[in-house]
Amino acid sequence: MIQDKLFEWYAIFGRHELPWRNTKDAYHIYLSEIMLQQTQVKTVLERFYFPFLETFPTLKSVADAPLDDVLKRWEGLGYYTRAKNLHYTALTCKGILPQNIVELEALKGIGKSTAHAIGVFAYGQVLPILDANVKRVLCRFFGLSTKDEKVLWERAWEFLNQKHPYEHNQALMDLGSLICTSRNPLCGECPLHVKCIGKIDPHNYPLPQKKNAIPVRQKIALVMYKDNKLGLIQRKERLLHGLWGFVQTLGRPNGYKKLGRVEQVYTHFKLELEVLLCEPIKEVDGWFSVEEIDKLAISTVDKKILKLLIASKPYP
Ligand code: SF4
Repeated sequence: MIQDKLFEWYAIFGRHELPWRNTKDAYHIYLSEIMLQQTQVKTVLERFYFPFLETFPTLKSVADAPLDDVLKRWEGLGYYTRAKNLHYTALTCKGILPQNIVELEALKGIGKSTAHAIGVFAYGQVLPILDANVKRVLCRFFGLSTKDEKVLWERAWEFLNQKHPYEHNQALMDLGSLICTSRNPLCGECPLHVKCIGKIDPHNYPLPQKKNAIPVRQKIALVMYKDNKLGLIQRKERLLHGLWGFVQTLGRPNGYKKLGRVEQVYTHFKLELEVLLCEPIKEVDGWFSVEEIDKLAISTVDKKILKLLIASKPYP
């Protein structure tokens, strides 16, 4: 069976040392899964996973903490909805993740693949998972030109090694990350090579989607100052909800000093901000010194603005 080849490959080449593979703690596994959804293993491992667990060693400790503290610990990792959902889920399940897959999937921010990952890695259930790496491997192995979720789940179930679901899923993720990479698949080193349909032209499985250039949004960031404090709002929009930041607007105020420009690229658009220093002209949610801002959860783009401000030291 080709699954046996995969199992053997994993025993030799798998990334067994990853900390979330050396625990059965459902919270640790859940945390790694959501951190890894939008962020590379190296970044999560080196900068975020351990510090987060140090502050919040259990899901109960997440539930007991104010959302602001969780967001602060998530700072720099981006896609803050993940942190908000984590906090919400911690509260909903009172710090204990259910073992039932249907109940897991019903929790905010836990999709089918994450629920399965918790089920198989923490609770030893027999389930396939379907993250981005696994999807690519399955598309190529079965010669699927589109990433149809329904078809992929059927194939994932069909391909699952029922005897070794844990190793099978970890192996597929590692294979997608180390061998069957999107740009440069190393088919000659792949344990699935013999039966893989897509190996002749891996880049066609799935067919690449035409990428449109992302739109650019140009705005003004207002650094409003009063009594040596800076005016900030707590963001309400979905992307950065709950984080503190400078007011963004479309028009320039009457009197201002230009501090410079900052940019930030998000998944669906690029934000270009002209940063202006001015007196209070808009409502804010609070006034803070630079030292106080340092303790708040703020987004990367607002950090860039703050850096610009500190570098120019323009306000009285
Ligand atoms: S043989 Fe090549 S295309 Fe097929 S799964 Fe392996 S690396 Fe991917």
